[in-house]
Amino acid sequence: MRTTASRLLATFRLLALFLVMSAAAVATPPGDARFRLLKLDGYHVKWGTAEFGAGATVTYAFVNVPRRFDGARNCEELVPVDALARQHRISLAILHEEAAAAFRMWERVANISFRRAENPDEADILIGAQGRPRGRAYANVIPRGDKADGIQGIQQAVACLNPEHRWKVGFDGNIESFDIRYTLVHEIGHAIGLDHAGPSGQVMSFSYDEAHYELQPGDIRGAQMLYGIRRMN
Ligand SMILES: [Zn+2]
Repeated sequence: MRTTASRLLATFRLLALFLVMSAAAVATPPGDARFRLLKLDGYHVKWGTAEFGAGATVTYAFVNVPRRFDGARNCEELVPVDALARQHRISLAILHEEAAAAFRMWERVANISFRRAENPDEADILIGAQGRPRGRAYANVIPRGDKADGIQGIQQAVACLNPEHRWKVGFDGNIESFDIRYTLVHEIGHAIGLDHAGPSGQVMSFSYDEAHYELQPGDIRGAQMLYGIRRMN
């Protein structure tokens, strides 16, 4: 069994995170609610008002043309997911629905709402495949720079999937192939301001072990600390 570690790569204005994997499933103690908030330049980051517990509305889009993010440590080259979907026999419609489901998982627990933007130029979070494949999946978070009281706003985030890795829809126990939705839930977690929560037990943990499909207590606590508890309209 092979295990790779997670790393956190930070630059002055940009943080790159990488997902990660472990071949070993580790038991989670009951009631485990670990979480860690992302820090960039010493400040936590969130969408909307730079204030803990303040809700936010965030747009996302799949890139439809190649994009470059010069200076980014990861996701520097982003391309449409079409080829990835084709290669892994996943229809684009299903891939888009899996992404929507991933956003809804965060939306259900915290006061953050997501809307798919028609135009990627206007989206807050961009999703695509890596133009230069490596690793499994990454997220980049670019802060706005409006630092106050230990927190700053997010300007843009990017999530990218390695098209050469093996992808699937749903869990099947084969952890050499990653579930698209679960991977996106994890990367969206980074994109909204959460860091890795230890090796296992939470969606924001850095292992891919198919031990749970839903957000775990630590994931929920972290998102609620940033955006508040979901208010029913
Ligand atoms: Zn990660």
